[in-house]
Amino acid sequence: MKTQKQERTRPLKTQARRRSTNNSTKRTKGSLEIVTYHAVVSCAPLLKDWCFLTARKFERQMEFLHRIGCDVMPLADAADRLVSGQLTRRTIAITFDDGYMNNITNALPILERYGFPATIFLVSELVGLKTALWPNRILAAIANSERSHIDFRGHTMKMGNVKERIHASRKLQTLVKADSGDDPQAAVEEIERACGTCINPKFSADHDFAVMDASTIRASVAGGLIDFGAHSMTHPILSKVSDRRLKSEIQNSIKSVEELTGVPCRLFAYPNGGPDDFDDRAVGFLRETNVDYAVTTVQAQNKMASDSYRLSRWNVGGESSIAGFATKILCSGFISRISQ
Ligand SMILES: [Zn+2]
Repeated sequence: MKTQKQERTRPLKTQARRRSTNNSTKRTKGSLEIVTYHAVVSCAPLLKDWCFLTARKFERQMEFLHRIGCDVMPLADAADRLVSGQLTRRTIAITFDDGYMNNITNALPILERYGFPATIFLVSELVGLKTALWPNRILAAIANSERSHIDFRGHTMKMGNVKERIHASRKLQTLVKADSGDDPQAAVEEIERACGTCINPKFSADHDFAVMDASTIRASVAGGLIDFGAHSMTHPILSKVSDRRLKSEIQNSIKSVEELTGVPCRLFAYPNGGPDDFDDRAVGFLRETNVDYAVTTVQAQNKMASDSYRLSRWNVGGESSIAGFATKILCSGFISRISQ
């Protein structure tokens, strides 16, 4: 399958306007900055969560990328050029994790305005189910609960006002990540019961938590600006699962993305993506598949010598200011060096 790489390498679709006099571009010749988004929502949610960025903020960030004149390329094309030494200037790849419907309804019209391509990483088992990723089920339970506090596995959290509910939601997400091993579903059901809310609720397509369905994915591929990568079947922490489950999460998600899109899946994003969230087993399994590049959430600049299966990305959360975003992009090399 690897012999098909050249056939699969698509021509460059889009480039932002170039400004040859840009000194900061010259200093970072040949670097690749990959930015990561999650949901792009019309209005900031009442219970703030780092995954939810408003469309207004997203638009300002895209306008900034346009203004500084960097190349914005599809991730696989940019990575091909990075590893073969063909990137000659600052290049950006835009990615979205988890496959939110609002990536298409809210973010795509903005991307189209600037001609920027992007990659969406799908949690393939959620596609078309109308259910939500487990952290969002916790958010929904906390937001909709009529109770004044919640007891969960020896922890009591107040839910008397918005601030307390935001705190409870963050603490519960942390507890579930730490305590529930490879299956957070049971823990989330426990929280939904403790909140007295619906178990595994469904969300309509216009809800902030809604995940894409198959027809939306097909239409997006046909549109030409969006491509898709795999992000596991169920979003477990891969370093915590058995070999068998790990292989299944990786191989089946890749197969599912290929069936949904009709094209080979060259990209994978590790769930959570921190240094402790995946291990050499995952990298080894990925090397046996069609996947050529895997991305983490380790925040750093990518250079020609970067590991293709451990590419770094800059997280852009709901609380990111335009100044913070600009600093990450313009000072990426410096931030990477002092973070090592
Ligand atoms: Zn994710």
